[in-house]
Amino acid sequence: MKTLTCDLCEATAQGETFEEWMKALMPHYMQAHADVMKGKADLTPEEQKAQQQKWMIENKARFDAA
Ligand SMILES: [Zn+2]
Repeated sequence: MKTLTCDLCEATAQGETFEEWMKALMPHYMQAHADVMKGKADLTPEEQKAQQQKWMIENKARFDAA
C-alpha cells in the first residue's frame, strides 16, 4: 500500500496500485479542485485527452517513485 499526496495540494490518498490510488484521489479532486476540472471543460476533447494522459504519466512516475 502506498500513500501519495495529491499533485495540487498536501492531501493524501492510498492505493496498492496506481489505478487504486487514482480512484481514491478522485473524490478529493472533484471536491477540492473542481475549478481545475471546470477549467478543462473549455478545451477540445483532443486537448482534454492529451492533458489527461500527461497527468497520468506524471503521477504514475510519482507513484512508482514513492
Ligand atoms: Zn488536492
